[in-house]
Amino acid sequence: MNCLCCSKPITASASEEERITGWHRSCVRRFFGTRKLPEIDITEEKLLELARESVNQGLTVPGVQKKISLHLTTGINPRLTLVNYPTGFILKPQTAEYENLPECEYLAMRMAAAAGIKTVPFALIRLHGEENNLAYITRRIDRVGNNTPEMLAMEDFCQLDGRLAQDKYRGSYERCAKIIQRYSDRPGIDLTDFYYRLLISFVIGNSDLHLKNLSLIETNPGSQKYILSPVYDFLPVNAVLPEDEDDFALTMCGKNRSIRKNDFVRFAVSIGIMEKVAAALVEQCISQEKLFLSLAEASILPANLKSAVINLISDRMTTLKGV
Ligand SMILES: [Zn+2]
Repeated sequence: MNCLCCSKPITASASEEERITGWHRSCVRRFFGTRKLPEIDITEEKLLELARESVNQGLTVPGVQKKISLHLTTGINPRLTLVNYPTGFILKPQTAEYENLPECEYLAMRMAAAAGIKTVPFALIRLHGEENNLAYITRRIDRVGNNTPEMLAMEDFCQLDGRLAQDKYRGSYERCAKIIQRYSDRPGIDLTDFYYRLLISFVIGNSDLHLKNLSLIETNPGSQKYILSPVYDFLPVNAVLPEDEDDFALTMCGKNRSIRKNDFVRFAVSIGIMEKVAAALVEQCISQEKLFLSLAEASILPANLKSAVINLISDRMTTLKGV
């Protein structure tokens, strides 16, 4: 059995609590800052209601899951309580439309982290203590400190580009590169980081990288210096929803389907990344293949989803190798 937070084994010598919760004690402390895994105050009825809501809203893109804001109350028996304002933690439970989305998101984020991309803190957590009722949980990164947190300004690319939220699918990655050049405090590093994220997104089928899934975040509270934020909301959409033929949410070199290696090369040059640097990043991405396949193999996804992810990654890696 592996930890629902760090994926490392929970050994036979682990405490009973660690085995019941599926979390290392050290992971609980790091993720929540508590001694015990917080209980989640959310009823079965509320979960069903939320699942129905997302169906009624016609949310067909898997990435548009219902997000639940939770507030952490610390103490002897820490609790996570449902609140109606943006707060410390975000929970994404199972959905009616797609199976195992929380597990899929966890795997995609695990792959991003393994490839060296900075991610927001993320984990899986059991609801109502049920082994098979897993939700994805993430901690917000725009606050520093626990009791009286200071806020870090965080702005997504929709806001930075002066667009409405509903226009998050309008735009291009060339435009995103301009946003980074204009607002980032370290545009060179962030541009190559952004390029690498696109490569990794492509190979894992994270096709929902729209303007609201990219953000800049303040380096320190009040510094007014911004850098590309850690990644969030990564999901192997192309494996979950193979009918959707889009490789990307926004365009690259004027297209978002049938992306080839050459498109990545042309794109790099157009946003001011040297061809040599781009080639090294493509190689770096390709070198993750074995690791990604082993992560998928070791994941807790059901067999059909597991092979969908594995086949997708193999295909995309082949595309990127340009053979
Ligand atoms: Zn752990």
